[in-house]
Amino acid sequence: METESNKVVSFKSLTDSVGRFNLTNKTCLIPQMNRIGVHLLAATFKGFGIHAKVMDTYKGLDLGMEYTSGKECYPCQITTGDILYFMEKEKERLGEDFNPENYVYFMPEADGPCRFGMYNKYQRIVLDSFPQLDRVKIGALTTKDGYSLDGIIEEERVRDLRKTAYFSVVVADILDRLLWRIRPYEKEPGMTDDFIERSMNAMEHTFEKHGPNKDFDKILDRLEEIVQEGKAIIDPDIPPKPLIGIVGEIYLRTHVQANQDVIRVLERYGAEVVNASIAEWVNYTTYDRLREARIGFRMDLKQLRLGRLKEHLKEIISFGGELLYQELRQKQVYKRVKSLIDLKKDHRVAHLESILKEDDLYSFDAGTEACLSISGIVEYAREGYNGVVNIYPFTCMPSTTTSAIAKPLMNKLGTPYLDTPYDSSFQPGREAAIRTFMYQAHQHFKRHGRKGD
Ligand code: SF4
Repeated sequence: METESNKVVSFKSLTDSVGRFNLTNKTCLIPQMNRIGVHLLAATFKGFGIHAKVMDTYKGLDLGMEYTSGKECYPCQITTGDILYFMEKEKERLGEDFNPENYVYFMPEADGPCRFGMYNKYQRIVLDSFPQLDRVKIGALTTKDGYSLDGIIEEERVRDLRKTAYFSVVVADILDRLLWRIRPYEKEPGMTDDFIERSMNAMEHTFEKHGPNKDFDKILDRLEEIVQEGKAIIDPDIPPKPLIGIVGEIYLRTHVQANQDVIRVLERYGAEVVNASIAEWVNYTTYDRLREARIGFRMDLKQLRLGRLKEHLKEIISFGGELLYQELRQKQVYKRVKSLIDLKKDHRVAHLESILKEDDLYSFDAGTEACLSISGIVEYAREGYNGVVNIYPFTCMPSTTTSAIAKPLMNKLGTPYLDTPYDSSFQPGREAAIRTFMYQAHQHFKRHGRKGD
């Protein structure tokens, strides 16, 4: 792709062309992270009349590498490549009819000490350097307001969209857990992958149809049918395998190409795997806003700042209600599914924070995914998992912090632990490291059994 080398890139574009935009009559471009999750989210958007499109991923990695310096986080390089590749293909497909103003590229951000908050700014600068692409808006939802969707569709439907979108996240987590629960025990190789692909398509259809009316019972009925079908794939003669928990950076641990399909590699060496969920991160962002509002409220009380006290009180009610809703919905879905198959439950964020406080391991005040990863590792070990893997982009700040704290801790707890940092290169020793880790996990399994059930 040709850039406009003499073009003056204006910083105004970072505020005018990155933010929350109305999606009416636009194509909302969604980058792939966890495949099932983004497809159900896109289906939900479609049900609400938004023309959402999941972009191909990883095909534009060369472009991503070309237009980054190498110092950016790996997910930033991949997603930069995804959007540039999509635009290149779209221009070829539409020719003269290509209109960049028809698209809003969806790139959320996090308010915190790491670099996720800068992806969309950086990508704005890159897009602005190409002819026409400066007119492609970047739709940025932020953790600052708990990923509020205000303004993207008509006001009266925003709450329903948010609730259904959250529900789609939980159902996608369940389909992922179903995949990891069934595949190590499948009767014939490939059956589970086929089944999950079909199930994802069925669920997309279900969300598009029933999502707008928030007809969650109908969605759950369909999910139950899927679970029953999946159960039949399990070969009852295959004995239980060592249970491995996964934590880490959300993009890498859920993006199969980026993590070089590490779950499948672990399964090849005899594991059954449970990855941390996406809903856990969504709950964490809401929990963290609630936590901040509470801290602010206490400070206001001490300093008698009455105006801000009211603001913080409003936030406590709003984020508190949101969190309660999310946790209840999540519980409802897991309860229905667990009555049919023994899937692993999800962690409550308040419980994870209490784990960190017990031994003063880390603080939610410092933020980032390290809060969830460190406490998640301890919880897996306590639940009797036979090993834990931390998956993250090479140089990722929160994950490196996690690793520094987790390694000595896991030695103490006697649970096998493995760090797996990724960039686009293939390290020859990676598979050997996984094999060694799985040997330790098998030994742990022989000695202690599998208590995570
Ligand atoms: S979590 Fe890690 S990979 Fe993601 S933006 Fe932060 S430092 Fe980069």
